[in-house]
Amino acid sequence: MAFDIYDPVYIITVIFFIMGLHRMTHPRTARSGIVWAGGAMALAVVVTFLYPGMHNIALIVIGIAIGGSIGWIAAKRVAMTDMPQMVAIYNGMGGGAAGAIAAVELLKSAASLASPSPSLSLLSTSALAITGAAIGSVSISGSVIAFLKLQGWMRQRPIKFTGQQPVNILVLLLAIAFGVLVLYPHALGFNTLLPFFLLAIGYGILMTLPIGGADMPVVISLYNALTGLAVAMDGFALENFAMVVAGTLVGAAGSLLTLLMARAMNRSIGNVLFSAFGAKEEEAAGIVGTMKPIQPQDAAVMLAYANSVIIAPGYGMAVAQAQQKVKELTDLLESKGVTVKFAIHPVAGRMPGHMNVLLAEAGVPYDHLFDRDEINAEFPSTDVVLVIGANDVVNPAARRQGSALAGMPILDVDKAKNVIVLKRGQGRGFSGIENELFYGENTKMLYGDAQETVAKVIQELKKL
Ligand code: NDP
Repeated sequence: MAFDIYDPVYIITVIFFIMGLHRMTHPRTARSGIVWAGGAMALAVVVTFLYPGMHNIALIVIGIAIGGSIGWIAAKRVAMTDMPQMVAIYNGMGGGAAGAIAAVELLKSAASLASPSPSLSLLSTSALAITGAAIGSVSISGSVIAFLKLQGWMRQRPIKFTGQQPVNILVLLLAIAFGVLVLYPHALGFNTLLPFFLLAIGYGILMTLPIGGADMPVVISLYNALTGLAVAMDGFALENFAMVVAGTLVGAAGSLLTLLMARAMNRSIGNVLFSAFGAKEEEAAGIVGTMKPIQPQDAAVMLAYANSVIIAPGYGMAVAQAQQKVKELTDLLESKGVTVKFAIHPVAGRMPGHMNVLLAEAGVPYDHLFDRDEINAEFPSTDVVLVIGANDVVNPAARRQGSALAGMPILDVDKAKNVIVLKRGQGRGFSGIENELFYGENTKMLYGDAQETVAKVIQELKKL
């Protein structure tokens, strides 16, 4: 019997996938986790060329070269703040590939399915393939809409029309009906597969249109989980266990991430998918007082004479790429005997871990970073909180019933003795809701691009 090299190699790649995933659970080891999992994927691709019956090798190599080059160049160029849409489109491609593989497999088994009594195993693998095709198609079209919204090439606000829910349900039911029909003797062919795919793709579009930009990262994570599921289904149909394991890992990791993000915003997945968060602008209910601007030298004095400072970073710090300057400021304050900590909200920025990655990149030690739960009790005894480009995650409106942010866990920075907010102007956060913190008695506004402003504060601090 011939020795099949690919099976033992697949086992090795699966072990590396799991170890890579494990390493991704901590910022210190996450980078190497990506290398391990990526290396394993490269190995799995190479060894697949040894599969019996492989043909069209040249075409496959050209496809890999074109796709790989586009992916490499785009990933090198993408700005950190544009990462969510990049993840969306890459993930969508995975769903599309899973759908295409399922289509090919189904067409290959058309003749056997048309036999008078197709075997149970053929019927079940075909059913798995059609389920994979449906999920993959929803994932690619939904991810493309998510990409267009996040890239600003499409209206970010929820897109709604009359009768939307019934239309969505009808399209879904029709897609399922065609999926079942395909499995009937003599029904499998271009005439049934084409409408099936069009309906599944259409459902992905319809499902994503009413979801607002602020919820997109959660939706992307959900599609990521669906892509994993589609790949696992294809793996069963192709009897390729590396695909089954890799798909299951992606599906499980994506599902957990989706749940964690939704929990950090105190919303259910159903609420994210069907309630059109951000659909209507909220009135700035009951806000009293005015915003009180200060200059960098005032901020420097407040910081220099503080015993304790907490920095609360948000999306604006990422936009301004201010993390290096923030690290410089931290070192300077510590050299003056000030205790500096960082308060990290789980959804600060535009993706989970966004702030951790940026601060780690700038060399801020991990023991300076504290989760919301760890640090919230410390705000009342803190002399100065420096809010750098954060808005929604520090908005006290979340504590008020009836606010669109109601129930979202926030950093209690408004309870600190003094708060300095760094932002460019009076722009709102991603939710579009006015922030009551900025009008607080103990809050001062330091306007300007975060990187430039922190640099000016550093200059002033050095003079003291
Ligand atoms: P926000 O988007 O709420 O606010 C960012 C603030 O940064 C804005 O008010 C803006 O004000 C300011 N800003 C922008 N550019 C600059 C700059 N160059 N210099 C200084 N300030 C700047 O950010 P948060 O991090 O507080 O909140 C994240 C939001 O994203 C939440 O609504 C969260 O639910 C959502 N989200 C996050 C996910 C995640 O995984 N991280 C997932 C899903 C949703 P101005 O224009 O005046 O400068």
